[in-house]
Amino acid sequence: MLLVDAGIDYDLPEGGSTWDALEAQAGALGFAPSDVRVVVVTHEHIDHAAFAARWAALGATVVCGRAGVPALRRGREGVEAQREPRFAELRRHGTPEALVEGFRALRGMRSLRWEPCPPAALLAAEERETFRLADRRTLRLLPAPGHTPGNLVALVEETRELFSGDTVLPTTIPTPGLHFPTAVEGDPEGDRWPSLPSFLRSVGAIRALGVTRVYPGHGEVIHDPSVYLDRFEAHHARRGAKVRAFLAGTEAATAFEVAKALFPRLPDARLGQAMTEVLGHLDLLEERNEALRETGEPVGARLVRWRLERAE
Ligand SMILES: [Zn+2]
Repeated sequence: MLLVDAGIDYDLPEGGSTWDALEAQAGALGFAPSDVRVVVVTHEHIDHAAFAARWAALGATVVCGRAGVPALRRGREGVEAQREPRFAELRRHGTPEALVEGFRALRGMRSLRWEPCPPAALLAAEERETFRLADRRTLRLLPAPGHTPGNLVALVEETRELFSGDTVLPTTIPTPGLHFPTAVEGDPEGDRWPSLPSFLRSVGAIRALGVTRVYPGHGEVIHDPSVYLDRFEAHHARRGAKVRAFLAGTEAATAFEVAKALFPRLPDARLGQAMTEVLGHLDLLEERNEALRETGEPVGARLVRWRLERAE
C-alpha cells in the first residue's frame, strides 16, 4: 500500500493524538498502518511530513524530493534552524525591528511534533520515479519545486489524476514561502532560495500534464484543475504588475516599502506573509533582469533596496 503524505502530529483536544485518529481511519478503511510500504511525502512541511519516522518504524520507505531529504532527517530542528535566518532576511529587507520581534513572538506551530526520520528509511524521489499501483496503473513522481525546494507532485499516468500536496489548493493561493536550505543542514549564513520563479515554472509544467482531477493536500477534490491553475497564474501576474509599477514610480525601495505600498491596511501580523510574496516577485524581476538589488550600509546592518532596470 502506498500513502501520499505522512500526516500531522499533535495531541487532539478531545484526547489521544492524530496518530490514533489515523489508525482509526485506516481501520475503518480496512487496513492497518503496517500495510503501508511506501509513503510519498509531497513536501518538507511539518503538516505533511511529521509522521515520516513513525511510518519508517513500521517498515515503510519514505520517498521525498531530494532537496527535502535534509528537512526530513532533522524534523522539528530543521524548522527551528530556519527561524533566525528568516527574521534576519526580513530585517535586511527593511522590516522594522518591532515587527520582526512580533513575528518572533508568534509561535503558532509550537504544539506540532516532527520526529527526525532515520536516513536509512529515506529515498529521494529522483532515485525512484514510478510506482506500480495495484490496478496496474503507474504513479509518477514529478519534481515541482516552489512551495518548498523539495516539493513534488504525483501523477497517475493513465487517468491524469494528480496528488498536488500544497502546489494546487482549492481554498487559497499557496505561499512561495521563505526557504533557507543551508540552514536546515546547519549553516545559518546561506542564501535564501528564490521560490516563486520555480513555483511558477512548476505550475506551468503541471498545466502541460493534462490533469483531470486534483487530490490536494488540504480541502476537497478539485474537478476543474485549469480553473485553479489559471487563478494561481492570474494572481501572480496581477501582483507582479503592481510590484513593478510601484518600483517604476520610485528610485529604489526596500521590499518592506513595497509591501506597505501594496497592502497599506494589512494588519502587522500578516505583513510577514505579504513580505514573502513581495520578495518572490522581486526574485522574479531579478531573474528576468528587470530589477536589481543594491546593498547599502546603514547603521551596522546591510539593507537591501531594489530598483528597476531602466533602458538607456
Ligand atoms: Zn506546505
